[in-house]
Amino acid sequence: MKGKNIVLFGPPGAGKGTQAAKLIGFLQVPHISTGDMFRHNLKNQTELGKKAQEYMSRGALVPDEITIAMVADRLSQPDVKEGFLLDGFPRSTPQAAELDNILSSLSIQLDYVINIAVSDEEVRARLSKRAEIEGRADDRDPAVIQNRIDTYKSQSEPCLEYYRPKNILVDINGTGTIEEIFERIKKALQ
Ligand code: ADP
Repeated sequence: MKGKNIVLFGPPGAGKGTQAAKLIGFLQVPHISTGDMFRHNLKNQTELGKKAQEYMSRGALVPDEITIAMVADRLSQPDVKEGFLLDGFPRSTPQAAELDNILSSLSIQLDYVINIAVSDEEVRARLSKRAEIEGRADDRDPAVIQNRIDTYKSQSEPCLEYYRPKNILVDINGTGTIEEIFERIKKALQ
């Protein structure tokens, strides 16, 4: 599976991070998570982190000029030549179009977009549960959770229609045990 270029897509709380951690072991590719990159910058109080903070804390998307430059920079690193698992990007149709530009300038083709699908009720339940366990700031406030769900619906979900005609979109039922979902993804990649 090494050498595959994959986007992991799905609503907040879909389990992208959990599945990504398992998938990178299987695929032997770097995990590129925009959420993790922002949180890392936030923790270290970099300029980028400070800029991203106000958007993240209210469950909005960080502006494209910040996000796209960060992703373009990461994708230009040499380890990406071996394949990658991109998690949390794109999150809007303009970002999807921009990803196409970045990848074509690097002569890289996207192989799969894995969509982990879960219902709104399940998303809400998982995010409030995660708040108790991980204590992530953007999981704590129900209004912020709602805003992330709304942002997903209005800005991110349309990406599915962007990718569907390209025949690289794989829909995965994201309800079940972590192991069951991982098996579904592996099967879809074979
Ligand atoms: P989740 O999948 O639970 O929403 P992430 O860790 O992927 O969490 O992202 C956390 C926050 O980081 C998002 O709510 C958003 O503010 C910001 N973020 C992550 N990826 C992007 C992106 N591609 N574009 C804009 N903002 C992003």
